[in-house]
Amino acid sequence: MVALVKEWMSADPVTIEAQAMARDALELMVEHGIRHLPVVGSLGRVVGVISIDDLRAALPLAAASGASAGTVGRVEIGSGRVGELMTFAPQTVRAETPLAEAADLMAELRIGCLPVVESQGGLVGILSETDALRALAATLWTDEVRARRARSTDLDALVVRLRAERERVARELRDYSEVERRFTMHPQEEPVDFSERAADRTEADSAGIFQDLAVRRLEGLDRALERAATGRLARCESCGRRIPLSRLQALPGNALCIACARALEG
Ligand SMILES: [Zn+2]
Repeated sequence: MVALVKEWMSADPVTIEAQAMARDALELMVEHGIRHLPVVGSLGRVVGVISIDDLRAALPLAAASGASAGTVGRVEIGSGRVGELMTFAPQTVRAETPLAEAADLMAELRIGCLPVVESQGGLVGILSETDALRALAATLWTDEVRARRARSTDLDALVVRLRAERERVARELRDYSEVERRFTMHPQEEPVDFSERAADRTEADSAGIFQDLAVRRLEGLDRALERAATGRLARCESCGRRIPLSRLQALPGNALCIACARALEG
């Protein structure tokens, strides 16, 4: 079966218009973690491509704009427009183009991406070098490698989420102890406003309950991250079988699969 561009392209790509500021193009690329933007005109037709290299090539002038004001054909990125830096009328491909043909084109023309267009010239996607490499990698993987990779990617994502949650919980706990500290300091202060004291009391009480829960969650997250660091996160500590990711997400501190946890309870 021949791989087609449409199977590997990014559909609905981020785009920009020719009259937009070059620095906005740079901002869009950084924000979306991409290196190319198709430039679209009226009716969504592709009129150009701007790459991070185009923007970089214009950058030196930003530092010395006064001295090189006379330079022809180069624009200071701070005030430049996308249309001044982009590649005009770029090479495009169709969604039905064989992927190998598209990859050949990119290599031959030494370009990093190909806008994918329909018959009227409207943009439907973009194929980047990264997409082509991903496709190549996929054909080289054995089924076993592919399965292992899919698993480890999910697990990596979970570890990232757990680590982010740990940061948030730790921050919340610092806020709670701030509330507590305020409450315990009040008695020494004069004069005492009793309505304010009552409000603080309630705040401190509910903070106490959440604090207990947060401390427990934090301990669980720490145990999970410790096990992740030694590659044991998804292994049941009793039977060695895999623990489902959904269970790890809900109960990060848990080191047992459901069957072993039930056996322990029963
Ligand atoms: Zn088990």
